Amino acid sequence: MATNRAGVIAFFGGKCPKCGKGKVFKNSILSFKKFTDTNLECSHCKLSLEPETGFFFGAMYWSYAILVGFTIVMSIILNLLGYFDKALYIIPVLIVFTLPWVFRWGRLLMLYIVYPLMYKDKFYGKDSKEYNN
Ligand SMILES: [Zn+2]
Repeated sequence: MATNRAGVIAFFGGKCPKCGKGKVFKNSILSFKKFTDTNLECSHCKLSLEPETGFFFGAMYWSYAILVGFTIVMSIILNLLGYFDKALYIIPVLIVFTLPWVFRWGRLLMLYIVYPLMYKDKFYGKDSKEYNN
């Protein structure tokens, strides 16, 4: 099934899940205090980036899953390198430094996966082919 949705490159670029051109986040990921600010709508296609209040609460579950996967992979790597005894210190420090990415990927997964499934009318528009499938 062909859809008019953005792909993996747009995801990692923090772009709109529909057109892949407008930015989802207002500031750079390196701006420490403002990396969480999210645009209300896409600057290119005017897609609402928060279909309802509290939509991004679900991003916590995605972030949790990402961090569990990260912890498992880092535990395996540290074990293979012979530093598993220091994993208790190394992994939390790495998690703190990856939090801006994990936060954004959690929100982007909500926009890229949950949004088109739960809010078809807002995402595709009621007259589109995808909405009527
Ligand atoms: Zn867009």
